[in-house]
Amino acid sequence: MSVDANYDEDDEKGDASLEGSARRFGDFDCPECSANNPYDDKFGDGDEIRCYYCGAEFLVKVTDAGRLKLRLM
Ligand SMILES: [Zn+2]
Repeated sequence: MSVDANYDEDDEKGDASLEGSARRFGDFDCPECSANNPYDDKFGDGDEIRCYYCGAEFLVKVTDAGRLKLRLM
């Protein structure tokens, strides 16, 4: 079981490549408990976010292709 929970948002639809790493997200699915977490303040590369359900904290990484990756802190 890997502690390094990189997460690919593969089912994100549409214009993933338009904004690249500057893309910001309004919600995420927790890699630890699979809960969907809506965020009022959008988050992007370098931000720290927390799952409201299980309390896990993640460092946000957005790839050049505009894909969301979450690293467990
Ligand atoms: Zn969670």
